[in-house]
Amino acid sequence: MLFTVSVVVQLPAHSALAGPLSYASAQLLAPGTLVRVPLGRRETLGVVWDAAAQHDEATLRPVTSVLDGIAPLNAAWRQLVGFAAGYYQRALGEVALAALPPQLRELDAAQWQRRLQRKKRAPTAPGSGDAMAPPAPTEEQALALARIQAEDGPFLLFGSTGSGKTEVYLRAVEEALAADPLAQALVMVPEINLTPQLEARFVDRFAPRFGRQALVSLHSGMTPAQRLASWLAAHAGPGAGGARIVLGTRMAVFAAMPGLRLIVVDEEHDPSYKQQEGARYSARDLAVYRGRLESRHSGQRCAVLLGSATPSLESWHHSRPAAEGGKYLRLPMPSRVGAGRLPAVRLVDMGLQPRNTQLAPQLLAAIGERIARGEQAMLLLNRRGYAPVLACASCDWKSLCPHCSAYRVFHKIDRSLRCHHCGFAERVPRACPECGDVDLAPVGRGTERLEEHLAHLFEDIQRPGAEGEDRRVRVLRIDADSTRHKGALEEQLAQVHAGAVDVLVGTQMIAKGHDFRRITLVAAVNPDGALFSSDFRAPERLFALLMQAAGRAGRDAAQGAASEMWVQTAHPQHALFAALRRHDYPAFAQDQLTERLQAGMPPFSFQALVRADARTQQAAQAFLTQASGAATALPGADQVVLYPAVPTAIQRVANVERAQMLVESASRAALQQFLSAWQTVLHATRRDGGIDGVLRWAIDVDPLAV
Ligand code: ADP
Ligand code: ZN
Ligand code: ZN
Repeated sequence: MLFTVSVVVQLPAHSALAGPLSYASAQLLAPGTLVRVPLGRRETLGVVWDAAAQHDEATLRPVTSVLDGIAPLNAAWRQLVGFAAGYYQRALGEVALAALPPQLRELDAAQWQRRLQRKKRAPTAPGSGDAMAPPAPTEEQALALARIQAEDGPFLLFGSTGSGKTEVYLRAVEEALAADPLAQALVMVPEINLTPQLEARFVDRFAPRFGRQALVSLHSGMTPAQRLASWLAAHAGPGAGGARIVLGTRMAVFAAMPGLRLIVVDEEHDPSYKQQEGARYSARDLAVYRGRLESRHSGQRCAVLLGSATPSLESWHHSRPAAEGGKYLRLPMPSRVGAGRLPAVRLVDMGLQPRNTQLAPQLLAAIGERIARGEQAMLLLNRRGYAPVLACASCDWKSLCPHCSAYRVFHKIDRSLRCHHCGFAERVPRACPECGDVDLAPVGRGTERLEEHLAHLFEDIQRPGAEGEDRRVRVLRIDADSTRHKGALEEQLAQVHAGAVDVLVGTQMIAKGHDFRRITLVAAVNPDGALFSSDFRAPERLFALLMQAAGRAGRDAAQGAASEMWVQTAHPQHALFAALRRHDYPAFAQDQLTERLQAGMPPFSFQALVRADARTQQAAQAFLTQASGAATALPGADQVVLYPAVPTAIQRVANVERAQMLVESASRAALQQFLSAWQTVLHATRRDGGIDGVLRWAIDVDPLAV
């Protein structure tokens, strides 16, 4: 007897077929089974989706093979994938297959058999190794943990930098795993950079008890083989000797975990949780959704714990008191561990400095004092390269990228002009390409230039040291350029931790998460750009960045009281800085939420962005305009506002013109209903609209940058 099975596969983008395809199978295949099936002339990986039905059509092609040795993906996983596809307006197959490790797709049946045969590594025995006794929780930690135990959540752990959030994660994981030998925990961090440090803390805590193999990582820095191994361990679960703890970046939200009982999202406000291509999902939002799903399916609680010192305004709003409609439980931890204090914030009014001052004299003096005492300083400048523009002194020439509507950045180290949008790079010309003048000058400042400038400024300062020792000031730059090679970041961070650096210069890369113990002064060199950005989320991001940066100073309690956060600004009166001075996130959030409420912006409304890429700006906009014209009668349209098509912030990248249209509604449901109906119209407009040169379009639900 033959059965009909419906199988989800990855179809070509914008294919007319969106749902599962039907195949014939001699076996009854459970939903969630991984199979290989023919698709056109290829063979491809698929996931059996629905329960099998009796076979009655003779025309169906048969399933080629079943990937045995892998348990079917459970119902909660399939529902998570189904929800994500629907909510983020993508094909089910695209989301399902993207959620699986890439190598699974590439192995044919024979290779898969060999992979299965490979000897399982002997597990390291638990109980070996001597775990350091974990610290006794502080009062605030104990209170937060008690509520995590007692209540349902989701929880928002609102803890200052240095309040010991990680210790709360560790203990929450410990409690979840202790309650049930089959329980698993998922811990997410925003960036791979931060995984090694967190991983080390989790390994220290849990490897002695569960064995090293009980912890696996999942992030894009791993090889395909490593990712497959981690994924398989997570999916096998503790019952089959697999993983108990998965540590990962946003992609890990889709890890198959049969015993999932706790999801931690560290630094939940971080924009890296939002995927920026394909299905543009928010891993933080999906984590909350997944918690509910897993609880419902297993009948046991799967708790969700979001943590941040500067929560996203969405999560903050969700964690208002339940009486006001809040859905998350806010767990405050305002104090630093060990009675450490947050650094004093000092604003330098750059309006009072001579024009083009890069570092105010009082800031330089303060840094000099720190160095002389053997302490470290950290300078933050969110712009890499030497100078954002190179310009000719005698004519109008500037280092525009020929392919983008943006300037190429001058990198002095290799004397190149590099476009940070399309990657186009050239050697710096000897003379102006327009007029031949040799006087080409850098305009503005990046991290490279700041590094050079500092080395020069501190020439006469010496750090403490023994007679005859080289006591010159050591400046280190950490940014995407200095860390391009594998292992470079780890090596540079190790230098900072070891005290082999006096002044650290870098982009936001150094502001996040690192537990630096010797830094006592942090300075934001030029943060003003974000104050007047057209993106309504820019102040939120700036505040979070500055609070995070401040949190890198004085982490050693002994120095906490003497540590400082300096901010150079031309707008010292700005409300954002007033809140920063008091380390008062709630006041800042209140201000922002009031503004957003008045302007009807998220979290008080729901948005989506439709982006179109085309050969010309006119075509990109015409496509969006035409598709919106055909949308007025669609379901939900009466509750949805469509704004005019506009060029994106950088309208041309790699010779492609880009436009976008904002879609907004006070009702999430209406927006969802509208978007799924509008998809068909967008497809039809692309196909039959008669507009030449449209290359692609995509919907971004809950976009982070508008
Ligand atoms: P956060 O993640 O909130 O910034 P961390 O978890 O990194 O803070 O904690 C800051 C420092 O305090 C770390 O060095 C950590 O080991 C230490 N710490 C955390 N909890 C305790 C505790 N209960 N007792 C002693 N030290 C602690
Ligand atoms: Zn010129
Ligand atoms: Zn370019």
